[in-house]
Amino acid sequence: MAVRLWHSRVAPHAIIGGGTFIALVMIGLCATVLYQGRLDAMERARETSRNLALIAERDIERNFELYALSLQAAGDGMNDPQVLALPPELRRQVLFDRAATAKDLGSMLVLDAGGNIVVDSGSDVPRQGNFADRRYFTVQRDDPNAGLYISDPYRSRLRNGLPSIALSRRLSNPDGSFAGIVMIAVNLEYFCRLFAGLSLGPHGAVSLIGRNGIMIMRQPYDVRTIGRDISHASTFRQFSAAPEGSFSDTASIDGVRRLYLFRNFPDLPLIIMVAEAEQDIYAAWRQRALTIGSLMVVFALGFIGLAFLLGAQLRRRVRAESELELLARTDGLTGLHNRRTLGEILDQEWRRARRTRTMFSLLFVDIDRFKAYNDAYGHQAGDDALAAVAHCIGRNIRRPADSAARYGGEEFVVVLPDTAPAGAVKIAEQIRAAISELAIEHAGSEYGRVTASIGTASWMPERDGDVSAVIKAADEALYTAKATGRNRVSPFFPG
Ligand code: GH3
Ligand code: MG
Ligand code: MG
Repeated sequence: MAVRLWHSRVAPHAIIGGGTFIALVMIGLCATVLYQGRLDAMERARETSRNLALIAERDIERNFELYALSLQAAGDGMNDPQVLALPPELRRQVLFDRAATAKDLGSMLVLDAGGNIVVDSGSDVPRQGNFADRRYFTVQRDDPNAGLYISDPYRSRLRNGLPSIALSRRLSNPDGSFAGIVMIAVNLEYFCRLFAGLSLGPHGAVSLIGRNGIMIMRQPYDVRTIGRDISHASTFRQFSAAPEGSFSDTASIDGVRRLYLFRNFPDLPLIIMVAEAEQDIYAAWRQRALTIGSLMVVFALGFIGLAFLLGAQLRRRVRAESELELLARTDGLTGLHNRRTLGEILDQEWRRARRTRTMFSLLFVDIDRFKAYNDAYGHQAGDDALAAVAHCIGRNIRRPADSAARYGGEEFVVVLPDTAPAGAVKIAEQIRAAISELAIEHAGSEYGRVTASIGTASWMPERDGDVSAVIKAADEALYTAKATGRNRVSPFFPG
């Protein structure tokens, strides 16, 4: 019975609950793996950005080192009277060597203390020009210890307004007073080309920024960004906070969230920044996550659906089984327990009574002159009367432990556990009266209605006693009831 209960109530729920749990665990695992993949994508992007920044930084540093050496050489030459005494063409070659003809170098000039061109790498007869207003000039003029100066971007006056930056060094007279500068102008084209070669996805950006916050070059290239002061931008403040680092931020210009990686050049007042849009970083991952995730959800839903189906199927089956079982235990005509079930009940109650040492009572009910009833009213009417009597018996037993069964034909047995003889007789009398009160017409009976006789027997089960003895006793009592006039209750008296 306990196992059957487990089957009917718990098993369908266990299948549905277990199936759902497994599906949720699978979804959880899948989500964890996908999340890990997302972290990996970000980590890879950070690595890539860092490598790109390093490559650009090394290239720029190497070039600037060469420029600085050229400036140094030119400065030294200008302090050498022998060099100054050379004819212009030779002097030009000695001062500027071949570096001055390098690609992306605008011009290399020597300016006097007034800012006028004295020596020009571009021609033996210096071009006309005064640059006393340029920062790369004034910084050197005003500060003897300025060293190598790198300017903000400006538009070249000698080269049709080409955007450039300049590197300058101070020339000093023997007494230390300002004698002018040597300078190199570098076309910003150089940075533009360098950055264009770095691939950073459709929404990425690379910037070269002066440590003072002036934008030198940005890829994607927009002429308006060159020379812009971004020193007040929140991103720039982070760039200056550490030699190197990375962070995610949303750009105020386009609202795109990017991973920013920046490096301060160790030996130059420059910062390189590589930014990759998160949408580009996660593009491949998102595609994969969408496919795997949706497949997983469909799979999990299917799994849960299957569990529900299986659970419902099982529940239906269990219900059908228990209905069948009930049918197998019940008498079809009367709805009472059948003979087989009665056997089980008797067995069980007999053992219980023996264990608890309680009195065990049994009623044997037989309808009076029923053969005559059938003969007079027909078999169908007989069946109806049988059912009515059975129903009446059922109504008159009230305690949950009491049970009534059809013993066979028009005979019924009522089992009354834990009931003394007086109680058994009382209940038997109730049943007898109730059947009589049904007032089912029966012309062939001496009472003119359907009545029943009842024999009762009560037993204190012994160790080796048998329940059949009680049935036999009740049957004997019933015989007495029949013999003494029918429609009466007769208890069994031993001996
Ligand atoms: P009494 O018990 O008073 O001595 O007389 P009786 O006519 O009832 O005698 P008995 O108990 O021997 O008769 C049983 C009769 O009950 C036989 C049969 O006609 C009728 N009977 C038994 N089972 C059924 C049933 O399932 N349906 C119908 N309609 N009649 C049944
Ligand atoms: Mg009979
Ligand atoms: Mg009878």
